[in-house]
Amino acid sequence: MVGASLAARSRRWSGRARALALVLAIVATTASSAASAVLLDEPGRTAPWAPAVGIAGALALMTSGRWRWGFIVLGSLAIMTGNLLVGRPFDFALVTAALRIVELGVLCAVASPGRALMRLDTLKRSLRFVAAVFLSALVFSAGVSAYRAAIGMNGPDAVAIDSFAAHAVALLVVTPLAFAQSDHGGRARSLETAVQWALLALAIGVVFSPGNSLPLAFLPLPLFAWAALRLSALTIVSQLVVVSIYTAVVTAFGWGPFGATLGSPRGSIVLLSAYLAVFAGSTIVLWSKRVESEMVADRAVAQDRILRRAVEQAQTAFLLVERLGDSFVVLQANDHGLRALGMDPSNPFFAGSSDINIALPADHPLVPGLLAVSQGASGWRGELVLDAFNGRADADVSMERGAGEAGDIISVELTDITERRREDRRLRALVERERALATQYQELSRQKDDFVASISHELRTPLASIVGYAETLEETELDPMQRRFVDTITRNAGRLQERVEELLSAAKRAADSVDDPHPLAVSPILDDVADDLRPVAAARRVQIVIEESAAALPEVIGTEDAVTRVLTNIVGNAVKFSPDGGTVAVSALADDVAVELFVRDQGPGILPADQERVFDRFYRTEDATANATPGTGLGLSIVRTLLEGIGGSVLVESDGVSGSTFVIRLARARDLEPHA
Ligand code: ADP
Repeated sequence: MVGASLAARSRRWSGRARALALVLAIVATTASSAASAVLLDEPGRTAPWAPAVGIAGALALMTSGRWRWGFIVLGSLAIMTGNLLVGRPFDFALVTAALRIVELGVLCAVASPGRALMRLDTLKRSLRFVAAVFLSALVFSAGVSAYRAAIGMNGPDAVAIDSFAAHAVALLVVTPLAFAQSDHGGRARSLETAVQWALLALAIGVVFSPGNSLPLAFLPLPLFAWAALRLSALTIVSQLVVVSIYTAVVTAFGWGPFGATLGSPRGSIVLLSAYLAVFAGSTIVLWSKRVESEMVADRAVAQDRILRRAVEQAQTAFLLVERLGDSFVVLQANDHGLRALGMDPSNPFFAGSSDINIALPADHPLVPGLLAVSQGASGWRGELVLDAFNGRADADVSMERGAGEAGDIISVELTDITERRREDRRLRALVERERALATQYQELSRQKDDFVASISHELRTPLASIVGYAETLEETELDPMQRRFVDTITRNAGRLQERVEELLSAAKRAADSVDDPHPLAVSPILDDVADDLRPVAAARRVQIVIEESAAALPEVIGTEDAVTRVLTNIVGNAVKFSPDGGTVAVSALADDVAVELFVRDQGPGILPADQERVFDRFYRTEDATANATPGTGLGLSIVRTLLEGIGGSVLVESDGVSGSTFVIRLARARDLEPHA
């Protein structure tokens, strides 16, 4: 038994300690089997007390899988050795050993089927264990009596009862030692354990005193129940073992309720076994029920602790508030909740009590929401400013009324959104600054335009006078060299005038750049522009062709100046970017609302990525810059501005390789102003 108890703890032990415990268990099995055979033997009957079977059962149930059968065989052989040592006949020892193997096999199969290790920690498992014990004892006793009947020995019935009782009680009392682990130590302190031990000793002493009769026999039952409900597993099983041994010994002497009443000591022991089986069985079942409830309770406590911790550590503040008359009382709050109430959670007052019972002042910002909810609203949401969270804080608040019986309780959730609000304000300030910068930029850009406009304007008058005098000079009598000089002056002054005009147009805004638009014949203007450009084009053998479609176009809306400048720019560019000997073709399409002019050239084209940008001020394509084509990058931006002023538009189509086509769209006159 000592060996079994050691083995019971062996699951937590090292390999060497395990081996030692195993050897001790086997020795104890052998010794107890021999001892019970010697002490309680009566010719022709089996031993009525079989602790060795209990130890073997413990060994078998402590292992699982393949090892289990090894231990069953080992235990049975140990018992057989014990029997042989005290001189039992070999054939009997062999047959009982075989029967014991079957018995232990049944015990294991029923008590802990499959490969699982045996545990007695739920009511279901302990009931299973008790059932397994009775079934396996029955199998063994039936086997023994059948064998004895077969070989013609006497008294099979008595043998059946003897061995059944002996095996059942041994398995019920001794085997649980293997599961008496200390992890369910019971709630009792050592003083309580000592008192219970003392009372049990007293009760057993009284019940099993010489000459005592049956009526007192169940006196120890409440004490076993006490042990099952309060004491450690090891104490319970030890008490069962000690009581079993003690009562067996004194009953053998004829003391106690069983020894006194029956003549034969063997009959007494059998009765005692039944008595002990009742105690052991009920104690084990009760004890396992306790372990199960303790486990459930422990789990619930652990879960509760986890939940509490989660709530405690949550970044959200939680409050449970109850309405009492006209006031609201905070019953519970997590740390953040306390901070939201402007309190310090590290205050020792909060550590001790789960219900904090703090009444909210009537003017507390939470009160209006709480009132609304307590008067029937199912919930309340909003943002509040609280004197909390270490200073003034913005909080997102949501309240909900408890369901059913908890209807008077309102749960409040507060999220500190101070930081978020601060971030919002910062972003808003950034946007404001950005806007201010944009305005400033626009103002600067306007000033620049004004500056360019006024400078250009200042340049106009002196330039006009230079050009005027140079032209007058041209008409006078000049020698060839003087004439060359005057020509150069006229040409360059003219170029300068063009640039100044471009700058001036670019600086003007669309709205005020064009006089009142009116119906206008576009074809004659186109002819004039082409005629003006032809001398320049001829210098590079570029032809300007006005196609049939553009010859007699309907009237459009515009001003002569604007349309002339638009066409001069676009056709001029086409000529400028054409290769020597190329052709610039102008065609047109008219529909009800507009006239579209197509100016097509055979130049380098404009890449799609540049097609919008060429209308930006000062933008020139890389081609133009690289080939040093003269220009300022202002022409097309002026074109677009002018066209916007007369309700027209412009775009360019090109594959970026083989020429460009500029499309000028002008509004048709009849749509704006029906012909008068
Ligand atoms: P500029 O001709 O004075 O450079 P524009 O505003 O008239 O300025 O034209 C802007 C740019 O658009 C030109 O520099 C050139 O890169 C491109 N471009 C305009 N017209 C053509 C064209 N017909 N073919 C190829 N590129 C052109």
